Amino acid sequence: MSDLIPSHVDGYKALSVVPDLTENLPPEIREGIARRRLVATGHPCPCGAAPVRLNRAQRRRIAAQRRHGNTDVIRVPVIHEDDCPAADDVLNALANRHGITLRRWM
Ligand SMILES: [Zn+2]
Repeated sequence: MSDLIPSHVDGYKALSVVPDLTENLPPEIREGIARRRLVATGHPCPCGAAPVRLNRAQRRRIAAQRRHGNTDVIRVPVIHEDDCPAADDVLNALANRHGITLRRWM
């Protein structure tokens, strides 16, 4: 399962979807998930990945959605270093190595 973490991104309400930090997971997978939760709560990852900032195109898309009365929902990925345990490829490889069935990490 996943947790929803409410926060703010550049003044906009945000909702991050992160996996549960289940205690029975291997420590290296727990580290990757903990790092994702860290960034979702507005802190930088030890690899240097920073909390999300919106670019001009994303802000324009939100403004356009609001003008049309739509709910402003955009997906903004966090880019971790290639060797960070929070990176998609690393987390997926760890899950495969431990025989854990993958669901979406984000
Ligand atoms: Zn990272």
